[in-house]
Amino acid sequence: MELSAKIYVAGGRGLVGSAIIRKLRHNGCAHIIERSSKMLDLRDQAATLSFFRNEQPEYVFVAAAKVGGILANNTYPADFIYDNLIMETNMIHAAHETGVKKMLFLGSSCIYPKFAPQPIKEEYLLTGELEPTNEPYAIAKIAGIKLCQAYRKQYGDNFISVMPTNLYGINDNFDLEGAHVLPALIRRFHEAKQRGDSAVSVWGTGTPRREFLYVDDLAEACCFLMEHYDDSDIVNIGTGSDITIVELAHLLAKVTGYQGDIVFDPTKPDGTPVKRLDVSKINQLGWQAKTSLADGLATTYRWFCESKK
Ligand code: GDP
Repeated sequence: MELSAKIYVAGGRGLVGSAIIRKLRHNGCAHIIERSSKMLDLRDQAATLSFFRNEQPEYVFVAAAKVGGILANNTYPADFIYDNLIMETNMIHAAHETGVKKMLFLGSSCIYPKFAPQPIKEEYLLTGELEPTNEPYAIAKIAGIKLCQAYRKQYGDNFISVMPTNLYGINDNFDLEGAHVLPALIRRFHEAKQRGDSAVSVWGTGTPRREFLYVDDLAEACCFLMEHYDDSDIVNIGTGSDITIVELAHLLAKVTGYQGDIVFDPTKPDGTPVKRLDVSKINQLGWQAKTSLADGLATTYRWFCESKK
């Protein structure tokens, strides 16, 4: 990817897209294009195709998606499947039509079966039932992978797909109802500390295990794969280690300075019991995660306080 290449980062205002843009700028890429969802509705096929025709991007990172935590996925399944299916279909087809040199599609670790053996290898895709709380989102992401593979097979398009684990970092969504666990608990503990609350409720039993990757590490991995990987097989991106939600809650209480009780609410869903990615493939390709959870959490909390989310 030449430094002068024209690069489109779809979803450039979000957690992942904004981190990819920071990384590309840091690397010296001078010609990065982005559009807010207000300026370009990627669900609109004609508008998406005409944007690709006018701008002629050479490289595309597909980080635009409708995303959310377990409650949002469970409450708005139609939005999660429809928005994601239509946006990715429009972008992948437009990239094909306009001769994009290379496209990187971002999936998610929830594409794997709910009870996949751990750690989860790339080849476990489509070997078992999905987790019901996010099945519509997962089906859309699996369709995105299959689109990339089909366009590569039929037309020789250089479209690759990567599967990140649970992500966190600056520019995340800290909205209590829609957020993933990590930003939701940062906000909950921060506000409880400010109000002097004696207890904070954390959803589920606290026993599920999750792997958390700092988003700047993900952005580095995406740029690395854009340079060094040209194959239809998907690639996991993660740290390779996980913690329980109980452990995460205690870590976040410490980071935010919350000293009250932590109470688990088993009436809320747990989701997948465990999803730790096998990252040996990307490690062998020459990349591994660098940011410790302690450092990533501290940076994220600092940003949350400064941006007064
Ligand atoms: P998931 O990885 O798709 O299940 O996404 P989430 O980040 O939404 O949830 C991860 C785990 O954290 C689940 O077991 C949730 O029940 C648990 N959790 C605990 N408190 C919260 C919260 O306040 N918000 C969210 N989203 N999840 C929570």
